Amino acid sequence: MSSRRPQVHLRPGSGRALARGRPWIYTKELRWDEATSALPAGCLVDVVDARGRGVASASFHPTAPISLRCWGAAGLQVDSALLSTRLEAALQLRRRLYQQEFYRLVHAEGDGMPGVVMDRYGPVLALRLQTAGAEHLLEPLLAAVHQVLAPRSLLLHRQGQARRLEQAEAPLEQRGEPLQGPLEISENQARYLVDLRRGQKTGWYYDQQPQRSFLRRLTAGCRVLDAFCYSGGFAIQALLGGASEVLALDRSAPALELARAAAGLNGCEARLKTLRADAFEALPAMAASGERFDLLVLDPPPLARLRRHRAGALQAHRRLAEDAGRLLEPGGILLQSSCSHAIDEVMLLRAISQGLATAGRQGRVILRGGAGPDHPSHSQLPQTAYLTALALALD
Ligand code: SAH
Repeated sequence: MSSRRPQVHLRPGSGRALARGRPWIYTKELRWDEATSALPAGCLVDVVDARGRGVASASFHPTAPISLRCWGAAGLQVDSALLSTRLEAALQLRRRLYQQEFYRLVHAEGDGMPGVVMDRYGPVLALRLQTAGAEHLLEPLLAAVHQVLAPRSLLLHRQGQARRLEQAEAPLEQRGEPLQGPLEISENQARYLVDLRRGQKTGWYYDQQPQRSFLRRLTAGCRVLDAFCYSGGFAIQALLGGASEVLALDRSAPALELARAAAGLNGCEARLKTLRADAFEALPAMAASGERFDLLVLDPPPLARLRRHRAGALQAHRRLAEDAGRLLEPGGILLQSSCSHAIDEVMLLRAISQGLATAGRQGRVILRGGAGPDHPSHSQLPQTAYLTALALALD
């Protein structure tokens, strides 16, 4: 075991989940003393069980509910060599799955790299450090990224900025060649524009790729409403699938601008309308004024980041589904999703069917979906499978 790393001790009886492969250790599982509490956030430690045996190498946090995020066995060196190996494994998996270099390359624990998220936009990478532990490893991580991928540019979203970044204003750190304007990417044979400096998330929601591809098969001749459309992820697929008209709605003006520009790139701008509005107000208003659609996409932002927000989020989903029930033509299709791990498929389906019932409608489930294979979820951490998408064919 590395002698230079501090040790953190488990309480007697703790560590069973770790032994079964769960890589998180919660506050209550640790034996806290002054020395442990004084350790800096993000430092690497050796985890020792109550019998004094080394059981893991982990990133530590003194105040977060998850005290330890494990990297592997006791004594493991977490350095640029290890990070290169994990990055290489993540890359090989994506290379088998995708022909083009547009995907989530690292999905934190799902790729054995706690707190590290990396999206790939061809030669440009967006790296998001979500935890103090990931932040602490920045230098070896950058060394590994340069060794394995040699990106033309890299954008760094630092820990703690995540929330501000979602408001799309915070400055980013850029390394390598400066980025000029939005980047073009391709997904399901559609062309999109991504603003990596000002966009939401790291710029693009790769997680909805399977649902966008599914939607495209259903849109020929349809009038489509893409609510919470961001830069047109679903809207452009619908247009390319032959929709007669698509209304793309979002409250973000820059996102709508990118959606319009993307429609232009794909030669289908004539069939796209955009509306800057609050969906929670616009949908009931449209329903009341007699607007009708054949297909409706509802992809709201995370309405429940925490469990205690769950009830409110489910209520919002019920209301959205009720609006959908009023807006959809007979036989119409609803695709509704939740990107919060606090809401699972059973809960979302119940909320949707209750909302539809209030509008006097019923639906049959035709898709139970989630994030694509570039977002592997850790088998022992259901929390890492956060996206739930359901499509229903209405009566
Ligand atoms: N469907 C998109 C991703 C949606 S992300 C895709 O496929 O890429 C959620 C979007 O909801 C963001 O673009 C955000 O600007 C928007 N949004 C958040 N709250 C909103 C509201 N109340 N009304 C309308 N749009 C909202």
